[in-house]
Amino acid sequence: MSTKGPSEVPAEAARAEAGDGMTLGAADAPQREAVSGPRINLFGLDRSALRAAFAEMGEAAYRADQVMLWIYRRGVDDFAAMSNIGKALRERLATHFVIRPPQLVTEQVSTDGTRKWVLRLEQAEGKPETAIETVYIPETNRGTLCISSQAGCAMDCSFCSTAQQGFSRNMSTAEIVAQVWFAAKTLGGDFQNERVISNVVFMGMGEPLANYANVLAALRILLDDFGFGLSKRRVTVSTSGLVPYIDRLTADVDSALAISLHAPNDALRDQLVPINRKYPIAELMDACRRYLAGKDRKTHIVFEYVMLAGINDQPEHARELAKLIGSMAAKVNLIPFNPFPQTRYKRSAPEVIERFSDILRAKGVLTTTRRTRGDDIDAACGQLVGKVQSRQKQRLSGIPVKLQ
Ligand code: SF4
Repeated sequence: MSTKGPSEVPAEAARAEAGDGMTLGAADAPQREAVSGPRINLFGLDRSALRAAFAEMGEAAYRADQVMLWIYRRGVDDFAAMSNIGKALRERLATHFVIRPPQLVTEQVSTDGTRKWVLRLEQAEGKPETAIETVYIPETNRGTLCISSQAGCAMDCSFCSTAQQGFSRNMSTAEIVAQVWFAAKTLGGDFQNERVISNVVFMGMGEPLANYANVLAALRILLDDFGFGLSKRRVTVSTSGLVPYIDRLTADVDSALAISLHAPNDALRDQLVPINRKYPIAELMDACRRYLAGKDRKTHIVFEYVMLAGINDQPEHARELAKLIGSMAAKVNLIPFNPFPQTRYKRSAPEVIERFSDILRAKGVLTTTRRTRGDDIDAACGQLVGKVQSRQKQRLSGIPVKLQ
């Protein structure tokens, strides 16, 4: 038996959590979780990484599987409660690892049941405090959790509240996964049977594919039967269009894909989604076709389209969009814009959205309009974090500001 002490963290586990070993470029340079001690947060290890860590400790792979089941199927964050694991191993695990959810900063609950949490990320020494948002949207037949993958975002989409805060840092795998665990625990659901979270969407703060390695490991934990065990159709990665990473995702994991399209032509998309200047619509659509090529016939891509009054909501835009999509297995999701302070955009009127939707449908494009949710709370993504952070900044300068 190994007698490694807490400072001798299994090297492979540390590498796996940090996502080392991939050399693709900036998006593959994972953010090592800023732990306060030498113990590794198990939310950051997918099954193969955890098994490898156990092997380094001289423990059998099935022990790693048991630990995962305790964490993700029973909601346990205390090794002492893992009753089918011997006391000696439980104690060794507690010296190597920790199961550490994020800290709640603030919660808003809408009258429609939507919940928005601001969660504090672990703070590296000498670095500013960082927070992210996680949102739960209950519906009749499902519960969707919208999670963040970066603190802030560098993509600078002009209609986005998160973009206004700029980019702070990538989230580690542990920080991404722990949002789901935290939400399930907070909502009080049964981790095993009647799940309150049936769907997870990477549509919170950040561009998930710009934090590729950490997001990929998080996806594996979400989809793994020993992890959250979610169905591949119920875990959606939404991207603004990092074409090379759409191809990587297609090759690496089977998950649903959404594209933040928001405009039917390059001239307009260049203004709304600046990454379009690097990967224009034609290249993006080709990547979408490559994604669909390897999938079964039930798979489709969701094109997200925020409705901005007088900008992208005219009949000619709808016709152009229908032409762009053509016969692709796709659905368009029209999103009424959620205004936030300092934005120059306005939400399209309901009748304008309906007209847009009618044109798409008439041309055979599957179209839905997202119900506006959480209008009585800070509904725009990143808006609440912005408020909390500016409150914190103002506190530092001695001016207390009340958060509504
Ligand atoms: S819309 Fe998404 S990709 Fe664009 S700036 Fe906001 S968070 Fe980033």
